[in-house]
Amino acid sequence: MKRRPIITIDGPAGAGKSTISKLLASRLSFICLDTGALYRAVAYRLKCEGWDGAAGTIADSGRLLKVSLKHEAGRVQVIVDGEDVSEKIRTEEIGLLASRISALPQIRENLLPVQRELAAAGGVVAEGRDMGTVVFPDADVKFFLDASVEERAKRRYLEMVCKGERVNLTDIGNDLLLRDRQDRGRSIAPLVIPADAVVVDSSNQSIPQVVDFMISVVERVCPLRECFLPEFT
Ligand code: C5P
Repeated sequence: MKRRPIITIDGPAGAGKSTISKLLASRLSFICLDTGALYRAVAYRLKCEGWDGAAGTIADSGRLLKVSLKHEAGRVQVIVDGEDVSEKIRTEEIGLLASRISALPQIRENLLPVQRELAAAGGVVAEGRDMGTVVFPDADVKFFLDASVEERAKRRYLEMVCKGERVNLTDIGNDLLLRDRQDRGRSIAPLVIPADAVVVDSSNQSIPQVVDFMISVVERVCPLRECFLPEFT
C-alpha cells in the first residue's frame, strides 16, 4: 500500500508557515505537523529545569525528554513529559531558545523519529526548517516559503499586538534576524532551500493567494484524487 502524500513547507521565522500550512492541510483534509512546536516544547522544558540559555550547559538532557503532538477534535496539543505546553511555548523568548537548542545534534536526533512517526501514514503538511532536506527528503511536494524581513517583522508585530502584547517593531525585526542567522548558520540541518522545492515569496501576496497557488502545485504533482483519500493501494 502506498502512503498518502507528504507535503513539506520550510522557511524562515515569520514567513507565514504555520498559518499557511494549517489552511493547506485543512483544504486537503490532511493533518498539519508543526515541527517548530517540538523544538519549542524541549526549550520550554529545559528552561523550567533551570537552563540559562547557554548551549554548552545543556549536556544531553534533551535525549531524555518525551515530546509528542496530539491531534484531537481539530486541536493540536503539544505534550512534553506529560505536560500540555501548547500555549506556553508561543512566546518570542521560547522561539529564540528553541533556535539555540535546535543546533544541538542530540536534540535533533531525539526529535527525528518523533516527526517521522507522526507522518508515517502520509496525508501530512509538515512545516519547519529541515522538512524537505533531512526529515522527509522523499516528500511528494516541497515548498520553501519566504518573505522579506520587513514584512515578516510587520506580520509578527501585528500578531502580537492583537494578542495584547506590548512589543517593539525594531526588536521583533532584530529577533527575526538573529533567529535567521542561527537557523541558517548551524552545521546540522541548517535552513536551506531544498534542491527540488518550489520557492514562494509571500511578501506581496495574501494568505489565500499563497494557499491557492500551493493547491495548484499539489494538484499538478498529485493529480489523482485517490491520493487524498485515507488509504489507497
Ligand atoms: O517555527 P518555529 O518558530 O516554531 O520554530 C522555532 C525554532 O525551532 C526555529 O527557530 C528553529 O531553530 C527550530 N526548528 C528547527 N527545525 C524545525 C523546526 C523548527 O530547527 N524543523
